[in-house]
Amino acid sequence: MNNPFETAKAQLGAAAKIANLDKDKVEQLKNPDRYVEVSIPVKMDNGQQKIFTGFRSQHNNARGPYKGGIRYHQDVNLDEVRALSFWMSFKNAVVNVPFGGGKGGIIVNPKELSVAELERLSRGYAKKMFPVFGPEMDVPAPDVNTNGQIMGWMLDEYQKITGNNSKATFTGKSLDNGGSQGREEATGFGGVYVFEEVVKNKVVDLPAGSKIAIQGFGNVATFFAQAAEKLGYKVVALSDSKGGIYNQAGLDYEKVLAHKKSTGVLKDFADSKNITNEELLELPVEVLVPAALENVLTKDSAEKVQAKLIIEMANGPTTPEADEIFYRKNIVVIPDILANSGGVCTSYFEWYQNMNNEVWDKNQVLEKLSKQIKQAFADVHERQKKYNTTFRNAAYILAAERIIQAMG
Ligand code: NAD
Repeated sequence: MNNPFETAKAQLGAAAKIANLDKDKVEQLKNPDRYVEVSIPVKMDNGQQKIFTGFRSQHNNARGPYKGGIRYHQDVNLDEVRALSFWMSFKNAVVNVPFGGGKGGIIVNPKELSVAELERLSRGYAKKMFPVFGPEMDVPAPDVNTNGQIMGWMLDEYQKITGNNSKATFTGKSLDNGGSQGREEATGFGGVYVFEEVVKNKVVDLPAGSKIAIQGFGNVATFFAQAAEKLGYKVVALSDSKGGIYNQAGLDYEKVLAHKKSTGVLKDFADSKNITNEELLELPVEVLVPAALENVLTKDSAEKVQAKLIIEMANGPTTPEADEIFYRKNIVVIPDILANSGGVCTSYFEWYQNMNNEVWDKNQVLEKLSKQIKQAFADVHERQKKYNTTFRNAAYILAAERIIQAMG
């Protein structure tokens, strides 16, 4: 398994070389500003105490408060949160929101906890981390296995301890607790806004009704599929952790959704063939959209990819070896830090609304999102042409230029 922090540093290193970026600043960016580890004692329902370990990595705040999610997972570790906080700094700079990068986590399998234990754990994390959080210091959000309810508990705890009643310390909150309209759709729709620009700018020549295979069928994948279908593309494959479904004539998104709702899984959907997650990556399609997990496009699977365009909606789905193969095979990869930046862009809108006591409607949010994402694409595309390089290198160059300028 690739060490994600080493991957992140290598990606920056490659971009820095191409654009001849300031060496000292680049070295600083390879080392997060601060890393906090806390122990969280939690009284379990059986009366016994259990100690959990929590992390927060604050990568860089030259452009604004640290910003990034908190994940609950049994495998959370230092290198993972460091890499994720690093990618957040770059993603926020690409989409040009005034945030730096942060990421946190707790080593826990939340499925083993009761709701009451989960609440005590979340409040315990906020209690230990409150000195490093704040609307102008570090603004966490949901990530893997966390949600608006958990942000609500943390916010409540933070407000009680600090007396700061601003809701802007956490984003991804529920709508009735200061959350933003459009956040749910933002990442998937944002990916399709980028896709539209790729086509409009003829980065890849795609025939009308091109076929798309999407790995995943969660929040990001469903909204991506919905928006892509509206534009006339044919979503021919989707998957979840139990496997995928494929119909080369196209899948009816609404019917797939109903099937998943009633059976709990995608497989055995009428008029489609069951496939594995590996087979999905190798289908004869024009566009491949990894929207589930990291490290799925490796040196083995990359050789078999037939798509002309890959839109990285998951974080870190492509290993550096696979990236080289795609470059050699002339397959265009739209990197995660551009493709899925719609999520954090809308988190910024939530933070902004909270800071200014404003409430925007969904159309306002999606309009602003579309504008911001399209500008980000144009800025990356400009560097891609200038340096005659990949979109990943171009996105890193753009982000590094912006962060380094802010570092002064
Ligand atoms: P989600 O939990 O809603 O959905 C994840 C999907 O992946 C589910 O359909 C699940 O069944 C599937 N999955 C799980 N294990 C799998 C496996 N082994 N093989 C294939 N599929 C598997 O998550 P999401 O919010 O849709 O996020 C998906 C990806 O997008 C993640 O990499 C996440 O980090 C990234 N991302 C999400 C957002 C956001 O706003 N939600 C923003 C940026 C990036």
